[in-house]
Amino acid sequence: MTKHEAARALLEKQLARLLERVGKLDADLRRTHDRDWQEQAIELENDEVLKGLDEMTLAEVRRIRAAFGRMANGTYGVCSTCGREISEARLAAIPSALTCVTCSTDTPGNA
Ligand SMILES: [Zn+2]
Repeated sequence: MTKHEAARALLEKQLARLLERVGKLDADLRRTHDRDWQEQAIELENDEVLKGLDEMTLAEVRRIRAAFGRMANGTYGVCSTCGREISEARLAAIPSALTCVTCSTDTPGNA
């Protein structure tokens, strides 16, 4: 059992959920393009929303994969900005956190 076993389990669960969501969004985007052209003006707007969601989800996937990378090279839990240890409470709340509370650009007061 390594130090970050709990965080890893949590991130793996999050990652599975996110990848499932990406799969659904991609399926939705593909379906949209099968419609005939009259409908596409309306669908295009919808498309933009889906793409935005897709990008947000993919950004989160990248964040989680980066966290796994940091677990592998031993830098997980260390602030990428100031190099100090990220508090256990913060990692429990945001397991993919890159920075400590002080350096955080996430929602303040979140951890
Ligand atoms: Zn910091």
